[in-house]
Amino acid sequence: MRRYSAFAIAREALRHHDGWERAWRSPEPKRRYEVVIVGGGGHGLATAYYLGRNHGIRDVCVIEKGWLGGGNTGRNTTIIRSNYLQDPSAALYEKARSLYESLSQELNYNVMFSPRGVIMLAQTHHEVRGYRRTAHANALQGVATEFIGPERVKQLCPIIDLSGPRFPVMGGLWQARGGTARHDAVAWGYARACSDMGMDIVQQCEVTGVRTAGGRVTGVDTAKGPVECGKLGLAVAGHSNVLAEMAGFRMPMEQVALQALVSEPIKPCMDVVVMANTVHGYMSQSDKGEMVIGGGTDGFVNYAQRGSFHHIEETVRALVETFPMISRLKMLRQWGGIVDVTGDRSPIIGRAPVEGIYLNCGWGTGGFKAIPGGGWATAELIATGAPGPLAAAFGLDRFREGRFIDESVAAGVAH
Ligand SMILES: Cc1cc2nc3c(=O)[nH]c(=O)nc-3n(C[C@H](O)[C@H](O)[C@H](O)COP(=O)(O)OP(=O)(O)OC[C@H]3O[C@@H](n4cnc5c(N)ncnc54)[C@H](O)[C@@H]3O)c2cc1C
Repeated sequence: MRRYSAFAIAREALRHHDGWERAWRSPEPKRRYEVVIVGGGGHGLATAYYLGRNHGIRDVCVIEKGWLGGGNTGRNTTIIRSNYLQDPSAALYEKARSLYESLSQELNYNVMFSPRGVIMLAQTHHEVRGYRRTAHANALQGVATEFIGPERVKQLCPIIDLSGPRFPVMGGLWQARGGTARHDAVAWGYARACSDMGMDIVQQCEVTGVRTAGGRVTGVDTAKGPVECGKLGLAVAGHSNVLAEMAGFRMPMEQVALQALVSEPIKPCMDVVVMANTVHGYMSQSDKGEMVIGGGTDGFVNYAQRGSFHHIEETVRALVETFPMISRLKMLRQWGGIVDVTGDRSPIIGRAPVEGIYLNCGWGTGGFKAIPGGGWATAELIATGAPGPLAAAFGLDRFREGRFIDESVAAGVAH
C-alpha cells in the first residue's frame, strides 16, 4: 500500500492524479480462511484489523452483504464519548476513545477525529444527581469528565436557550476530549489497512447460512458460494438475530429503527456536541456546516432502514426548544438504521453457544464511538478463544446469570 502524504498529493497533482491505487482489493472469496467475519461495518473491519495487528492472524475474510459502512456505521451521528457509569463500560469506551485520538496516524487515513467536546445537558434534578454521580465515577475510572453549571454551558454553546420552555438547563456533564469523527472514513481506513495486510474484503455478498458439524462452526453459505472457516465472527448489528437463527441459537436482543436528519449548511455556529436527553434530541455541526441531529428509537421491531414520522417531529421540537435559532433552518435529509438493543443497553462481546462462533453486537444506539475498542476486544477474543479484560464482563452468559451492566442512563438518549 502506498502511503498517503502531503508529498503524495503534490506528486499526483503534477501527474493528473492517475497514480492513485485502489484503497482496497476486491477479490473473490477463497474456499477456506482461518477466520471469517460477517459484517463490513466498523466493528467487523476493526476486529479484522486488530486480529492482524495485535495477533498476527491475517488469513481473514470480511464478508459484507452491501457496501462497507452501509449499515449503521455510515448512518450514525458520529458522537464519540466515554462518560459511562459502570466500570466495564467506562474501560471499553475510554479505550476506544483513546484509540480514536491517533487512529488517523495509525491507519494512515484521515478519519477526521475532532475532539471538540461533548455536553450532556442536565434539565431535571434527577439528571443533575445522575450526572454528578457519573462525574464522580468517571474520576475514579480515569475518564476526564466534569459536571459544569449553566453559565459554563452557555459559554461553551452560546446558541443554547438556558431557560427552556419546559426544562431549564441546570448544568451538564462535560467531556472535553469527546467529539466526532467521519463515519465512513473509519470503515474505509480499517478496510484499507486490512487489505494491505493481505486480508480479503468481499462486498455485495450476503451470508445466507451458517454451517456447523458436531456443535462446531465449519463455514458459511454466501451469495458467492460456500466458504469454510476455523472461526466465525459475527458483527452484523441489527441482523445479529438473523445470523444467530442461521446458526441455531437465539439472542437476547431486539432490532429497532433509529433515525437522524441534517439541516441545510450554515455558517459555523456551534463547536461542541450537545445532547439533551430529557427533551430527547442531540446536535452537532458538521465540517460542511450542516446541523447533524439525532433523535430516538421507534418503539417497535422493524428491519426497514428508515424511521417513523412522529419521531422527526418530536426530535425537531426538542431541538427548537433547546436551540431556538434552528426553527429558521430547512431540513435536508432524513434516514434511519436498524440498531440492536439489549435489555441492559450494553454490548455483547463473547462466545456464542456454537463452538467457534464469536459475537460482537448489541451496541444499540451508541456503537460508533466504540469501534476501535470493540474491534480490539473482539480480536483478542477470537485469537485466544477467551475474552480479555476489556470484554470479560460483556459475555452472553450475563443474561442467564443476571450480571447486567446497566447503562440505561448513559445510553438513555439515542446516540
Ligand atoms: C441514526 C443513528 C445514529 C447513531 N448515532 C450514533 C452516535 O452518534 N454515536 C455512536 O457511538 N453510535 C451511534 N449510532 C450507533 C452506531 O452507528 C452503531 O452502534 C455502530 O455503527 C454499529 O457498528 P457495526 O459495525 O456493529 O454495525 P453496522 O455498521 O450496521 O455493520 C453491520 C454490517 O453487517 C452487514 N450484514 C448484515 N447481515 C449480513 C449478512 N447476512 N451477510 C453479510 N453482511 C451482513 C450489514 O450490511 C452491515 O454493513 C447511531 C446509529 C444510528 C442508526
